[in-house]
Amino acid sequence: MAEGIGVAGGTACGVAYRPSTRRQAAVSVEHVYSAAKRRYERWAEDSSLPATARDLALVYLALLEDPELREAIEGDVTKGRTVGEAITEACEHQARLLDGARHPYLRQRAQDLRALVQELLVMKDEGNYGGILLADSLTPLGLYEAYGAGARGIILRESLAFTSHLAILARTVGLPLVAGVAFDITYWQGQLISIDGASGQIWAGERSFTLQHMDYTPYPLWLNAASARDIAAAQGYKGVGLFRTEFLYLQLGGIPAVEYEEEHYVAAVKAAAGRPVIFRLLDLGSDKPIAGLTLDKEPNPMLGERGVRVLLRRRDILERQVRALLVASAHGPLSIMVPMVISAHEMAEVRTVLSELGASHLKLGAMLETPAALLMAEELTGVSDFFSLGTNDLAAYVYACDRAGEMHLPDKAEAMFRLIAFSLRAAKQQGREVGVCGELAADPVYSARFLELGCDYLSMVASAFPIVGKALRGRN
Ligand code: PEP
Ligand code: MG
Repeated sequence: MAEGIGVAGGTACGVAYRPSTRRQAAVSVEHVYSAAKRRYERWAEDSSLPATARDLALVYLALLEDPELREAIEGDVTKGRTVGEAITEACEHQARLLDGARHPYLRQRAQDLRALVQELLVMKDEGNYGGILLADSLTPLGLYEAYGAGARGIILRESLAFTSHLAILARTVGLPLVAGVAFDITYWQGQLISIDGASGQIWAGERSFTLQHMDYTPYPLWLNAASARDIAAAQGYKGVGLFRTEFLYLQLGGIPAVEYEEEHYVAAVKAAAGRPVIFRLLDLGSDKPIAGLTLDKEPNPMLGERGVRVLLRRRDILERQVRALLVASAHGPLSIMVPMVISAHEMAEVRTVLSELGASHLKLGAMLETPAALLMAEELTGVSDFFSLGTNDLAAYVYACDRAGEMHLPDKAEAMFRLIAFSLRAAKQQGREVGVCGELAADPVYSARFLELGCDYLSMVASAFPIVGKALRGRN
């Protein structure tokens, strides 16, 4: 047995594989095309995937069937270019022609073409479906690709903090992830292995894991999600306390077409089947950059332009998102939450946008994840219908430590809890609901404390429900 750091719980068993490298994949245009086609056909037919993912596979299939694109690639190869260079140049050439198109659908195709380059050149072997991905490191896009390609779990050589966005993303989509594995992970390649993403243990061969049975329905547990699929897969939750909308953008590596984004939200609301869904407005910046939207170079991105600051600079994007949420609100109860708030002024600005777009009937809440927001909770109640504590960022700012590194919360996080208690007094005096959607909500050491202080619910990924339920039961 080997061990790493368990950062995304759940267990998985499958054949370990490493993603093919560009050099291995791009042997011939025919090879790249036929492998990609097989992969997308299977992806398009996989009914366990959300409609948006299946549609994306259909888009890629249509691009692969474009005779002009293929001719351009093959022509370049005949002229002496490598397959990789030919694919990159031909797709980029077509994408540039579409960049200036007026219709958003065509502009989206330009993005799809660029994504296709990555898809073709970093080709996954289709035999990897249902396997355990071995990688040195991974981007959010890479994680989504692994997920879309049917990976069951991930082992990373790179060390990863529990509160890093990659770990959160893995937990959100339900992929067990063991990080920081010290020895040469290529050793497992091709072998059947089992992993436990909670304890970080890795075993050779198949292992049966006992399922945890625990009735957590008496407790105020809400769900953290990023897609309709996450919601559909969860049970026993009271509502969706945090829907991270930026993950769709990260998944696509850019701004989705409006219709695509609308469908994503509508599907989420429908999957929640009448339970409320709190959609957090795009929380981009820092370790969630999107080219062309967030600032390129910042000396310290964690303290740079993040969350609502990006949205107030790019009102076009904010307005688009509010319009899409307005469409989704016709299908079930939803509210809107603003990330990285530091002042009541920001909330008032977002509120104005909502009323200009005819969305002032939707509840608008503020994330409490900066010390400034917690200290100004009283003022924030004037412009906020509800609050949610984002302890991932809050802990980083209170303790001046990196959320992507190892976080030390001294004295059982007393400093942070004093600040939380202060903000709760103001919020509760004005009858505002306060949830907790940071990772500490799912930490059995802290979950009961939040409720004792007066928080209304704890929001977390579905895999954490049993363990938190157990901790809360132990308290009674
Ligand atoms: C948080 O900061 O606690 C939070 C929930 O937001 P995110 O992890 O997406 O930054
Ligand atoms: Mg945050």
